[in-house]
Parts: sequence; structure tokens; C-alpha cells
Amino acid sequence: MALYSPLSSAPAARWKQFLLTKKSLIASIIVIFSFLGLLELLLERGISSRILSSFSLTPNSSPSNQSPLSCSNLFEPSSFQHSTPRPTYSRKANATFLTLARNSDLAGVIHSMKQVEGRFNRDRHYPWVFLNDEPFTEEFIRCTSAVTSAKTHYGQIPRDQWVQPDFIDEERATKARKSLSKMRGVFYADSVSYRNMCRFYSGFFYRQPLLQDFKYYWRVEPDINYRCEIEYDPFLYMEDNNKAYGFTISVPEQKETTPTLWDTSMEFFNRNPQYLHPNNAMRFASKDEGKTWTRCTYWTNFEIGDLDFFRGSEGYNKYFEHLETAGGFYYERWGDAPMHGIAISLLLDRERIHHFDDIAYEHTGWEQCPDPSTPAYERGRCSCDYGNSMAVKWKRYSCQADFDAALAVPRINTE
Ligand code: GDP
Ligand code: MN
Repeated sequence: MALYSPLSSAPAARWKQFLLTKKSLIASIIVIFSFLGLLELLLERGISSRILSSFSLTPNSSPSNQSPLSCSNLFEPSSFQHSTPRPTYSRKANATFLTLARNSDLAGVIHSMKQVEGRFNRDRHYPWVFLNDEPFTEEFIRCTSAVTSAKTHYGQIPRDQWVQPDFIDEERATKARKSLSKMRGVFYADSVSYRNMCRFYSGFFYRQPLLQDFKYYWRVEPDINYRCEIEYDPFLYMEDNNKAYGFTISVPEQKETTPTLWDTSMEFFNRNPQYLHPNNAMRFASKDEGKTWTRCTYWTNFEIGDLDFFRGSEGYNKYFEHLETAGGFYYERWGDAPMHGIAISLLLDRERIHHFDDIAYEHTGWEQCPDPSTPAYERGRCSCDYGNSMAVKWKRYSCQADFDAALAVPRINTE
């Protein structure tokens, strides 16, 4: 008997078919739900978000979300035990630390801040101003503000005060960079950004809005070391002694980077002798009253200066304009150290320039260190190597003798 003959059993077959369809529908629903469950699991484990992020579709691709640095406990006071008692002060100067840096300099900046805070600022609380040609990242701000208990300020440099000006002939500048790169031992020979930095520190740092309310700045670079405690307030020293510019190390500038800087400078000062201070430190820059240059510079990665001098000196600003027009920041590789060196030595009363010979400072291997046979070494809990200092091992690269000679020049009575 053909019970299931298609003709005789048509309604039953349709029912069976319906049941079958229902079964497959249920099966499909189960499959879909299991798939969704699995997807949920994957999402929870972040697998899908990782896949998505490889297509840059999730916020994971933004730099601030990439393995964020934990910036807690950045400052370990125990690594800088101050000797006791620390001096007490009844006042503070109107002053700030100043650091120009890229976001990628963060680790070096933290290192330097720990040095400054540990050796001096942790009980003085002078603020920090950070400048950059780009916006600072949230990480840079979070981490640097964690190293100090003082206020921190962050600013972006206006583009026209940073990039190569339009009047510079790019073809000539490119050629100059190429030919400087062929010379041996010239750092940053081919770098445009280094040139931007040098021009900025020559003519624009003191014009930044964040510095307008301060009188003194203390420049701090990444990866520097202060190897003795600073047992007095250098800002107050500047104020109490009417100093306008302070340095630690002085060195000669390389010939290759500045072939025409001295002549271009003398062109300006010969035309504008009214800006030369009668009691200047010309002897630091020249042994023959301007004919030739000693190449001596104050090493500007450390400097403590009076911003009112830079902002208010017509001579300084006109001299910078003269150098800017000559184009040597880009056609050669004029640095801010030779520029400051010449300006400070010629425009200021030499009594207003101070050598901080008691501050132990190190940058890129060159250091100033007090003589261990003097009480300052022990009192300052110094960890520097006097044998490796500018006064001993690197004496042939030091311009200290030229500075001392400049101070020894008899004064002209200007009363
Ligand atoms: P060096 O000491 O002559 O080797 O020069 P550095 O590389 O230390 O630069 C001097 C200072 O300028 C440091 O504080 C750097 O962080 C900063 N600097 C140099 N180049 C740039 C740059 O392109 N952008 C920013 N924002 N800072 C820079
Ligand atoms: Mn440096």
C-alpha cells in the first residue's frame, strides 16, 4: 500500500513538510543565537575590537590610548635626600622654569624635572612653563604635572615664530644643509627643525604669552643632571644682585656652523654703536676689540635670565632682526648659543652676567663640578666627577679664561 502516495496523502505530506520547515526554522534560530553568543564572547575578550582597530576603526588608534604610562609615583623623594637644615626663605622671585620640548622628549623631560625638583625646587615650588611647536599630548601633560607639586603651564608656539620664514630662499638653504652635512663632526647639519629651534631661542622665546608675567626664567633641557644640591635660590641671587644673565658652562662654537656670524654681527654693531654697553664683556667674544671672534658662547642649554632684558632691550631685538634678515639661521646653522653669547657680551654691563660656578650641571657628557677638596662638594652631596669636569679634563674646550679676562677689564667711569 502506498500510504504515502503523493496523490492520496497530499495533506499529510504538506503537514510533514510544514513540520520539517518548522524544525529547520528552530534549528536556524538556535544556530543564530549560538553565533551571537560566540560573538558576544569574542567582543568581551576584545578580539573583534583588536581586529577593528587594525583597520583604525576604534579609538584605540589614538596615541593617548596606546599603552598609557602610569605617571603615579614619578617623584621619589628618597633618591634626593636634602641635607638638613635646608635654607628658609621669606620670599620668592617672580620666576619660572622653561622647557621647550617635543612630545617624544617626555622621558628625558621627566628625568630633568626629577633632577631640578630633587636638587632644588621641591621646597621652593617655582612653576614650569612647557613650550612646543605642536600641541602637547594628554600624556605629556599628565606625566610632567605629576613630577612637581608646583603649577605647570603648557603653550604652543605660533607657527610664524617656529617655521622657516617665507623670505628664505629654499634652494639656497637646501644647498647649504647638504654642503654642511658633508663636513665631519657637525651635529644637526641637515636638520631644519634644529634650525627652527635655534631661531626660536634666539628671537622668540621671551615673547611667548605664558612668560609675560614672569621676570626670570631658568632653562631646562631633557636629560640633564644636577649633581649637587642647590643650597640657595639662584633666582633670588639674580634679583638681589641685579644680574640679567647666568650661565654654568662656556664653550666655543664650531667654525662650520657660523662662517659669517661674527662679520654680520659686527656690521650691525658698527652701524649701531649706541647699543654697545660701555662696560660690556666684549673680551669674552673678541681678543682684538671686534676684529676676530673667540667663538666663545655661554652654553645655553642652562641659562637663568632676566626676561625684562630680552623683552625690553631695543639693541637685542634690533640685533636679532638684523641676523634674521641676513638669513644665517637657515643658510648656515647659527645657534642660539653664539647669538646669545655675542648679544649678552656686548649689550650688557658685564657685572650683570654671572657665572654660577657653584652649580654642578651636566649635559651630554660635559659637566661643571665643584672641586671635592672644597666644602661645597660634601655639603652639596655631590655625585659628579671633578676629574671629568670642564675645569679639568675638558679645559681646552672651556671659555672660562675668556670670561675671567672679560671681568678683569678695567671699568670705564660712566658717572
Ligand atoms: P642639543 O642640546 O643642541 O643637542 O639640542 P636638543 O636636541 O637638546 O634641543 C634643544 C632643546 O630644544 C631641547 O629642549 C629640545 O627638547 C628642544 N627641541 C629641539 N628640537 C625641537 C623640535 O623640533 N620641537 C620642539 N618642540 N622642541 C625641540
Ligand atoms: Mn640638549
